[in-house]
Amino acid sequence: MRIEVLNTGTELLLGNTLNTHGGWFGRQLFTMGLRVARQATVPDGDAIREAFEEMVVRADAIIVTGGLGPTSDDLTREIVAETLGLELHQDEQALRTLSDFFAIRNMPMVEVNLRQAQVPVGADVLPNPNGTAPGLYLPPRINSRSSCAVFLLPGPPRELYPMFHEEVAPRLRALSGVEDIPGVCELKFTGIGESDFHHGIDDELAAMPGFEYGYCARMGEVDLRLIGNDEQIAAARSLVLKKFSEYLISADGSSHEATVIRLLREKELKLATAESCTGGLIAHRLTNVPGASEAFTHGWVTYANEAKIGQIHVPAETIATHGAVSEETARAMAEGALKESNADLAISVTGIAGPTGGTEDKPAGTAWLALASKDGETIARKIYHPRNREDFKDSASQSALDMIRRRLVSGG
Ligand code: AMP
Ligand code: MG
Repeated sequence: MRIEVLNTGTELLLGNTLNTHGGWFGRQLFTMGLRVARQATVPDGDAIREAFEEMVVRADAIIVTGGLGPTSDDLTREIVAETLGLELHQDEQALRTLSDFFAIRNMPMVEVNLRQAQVPVGADVLPNPNGTAPGLYLPPRINSRSSCAVFLLPGPPRELYPMFHEEVAPRLRALSGVEDIPGVCELKFTGIGESDFHHGIDDELAAMPGFEYGYCARMGEVDLRLIGNDEQIAAARSLVLKKFSEYLISADGSSHEATVIRLLREKELKLATAESCTGGLIAHRLTNVPGASEAFTHGWVTYANEAKIGQIHVPAETIATHGAVSEETARAMAEGALKESNADLAISVTGIAGPTGGTEDKPAGTAWLALASKDGETIARKIYHPRNREDFKDSASQSALDMIRRRLVSGG
């Protein structure tokens, strides 16, 4: 079933309002075994006609949002009726609901509101308990020209979402007849790029008939989406994990930080952080996870040298001899944080976010990380992510979580 979405509203194209409907419909339809084939965003006015005319000849269903209000720029109802060659008439039920809406709120109903009770002949009125504009459903073959189902829905999410669930989803289900809803599995990886997958497994996945997969590259992370039936997903999963399990963050969509917290809790271990260039981002990410208090004890942001020396006992000579961004300082930070917190593990990061402050042997984007643990050697790692400050912090936090996660899964 080819479903197209038409979002109307000049504010969406001026950037005043972020168009969140596209993504929202995509997610809703996917859970019903349906997809958005195409989405268009157009300003109020005649652009709606042009877009609607294009869609109505190729789509099986169109969902239009916005433009059902009482003002002169709200023209969706009129344009759609005209394009389909349908007369508008005043719908008594819609009019009553509308008058009640105003009466309950002790507000006068003005003449222009009457437009909202105008309904194309043959259309169903979709009640809107959360606003004045009712939605409209124009079933397929409402006229001799079109075999397309059309839904006209209000723009505000608080009106649109309930109306979709109550009125639109059941009709789409019946129209589509879809019974088999495909499963989806999201695998998250880190420390590996999209191109590695391309060389490693792409051909084998592509050879699985009727199976769908796709990649999404994020900062320091690649997500692999598998869509198909249970057997296909299981087969694809084992294929992928045979090659790349070392880089796996999670196989159920869990974030990197949630995975680290889960592993710490499972092993009953406590973690502390000592951050310089990430400014607390690692602690922030970890503490976003519910239950973090069972695994996370201390988070230092030791940005200045004095903080590193005073708070977590980095020897002043270490900084003087090797620099604040060095393997030695990173190790001393992690070991100092471990001792001071009495946690089982402590991670540290110290680096140069840039754009200034870099040198030839330590250019901006360089960071040293160290992981100290009660029952093992301290390990250190240098990374280089020459990016803007925020992306640099993101990447460094990913590398830090990666070091912790690897330690926890390997046990070593
Ligand atoms: P409407 O009067 O039905 O055209 O919708 C008006 C209001 O709904 C806008 O001012 C927005 O706040 C919200 N809205 C409309 N379309 C969208 C959209 N695509 N995404 C998010 N909000 C929207
Ligand atoms: Mg509008």
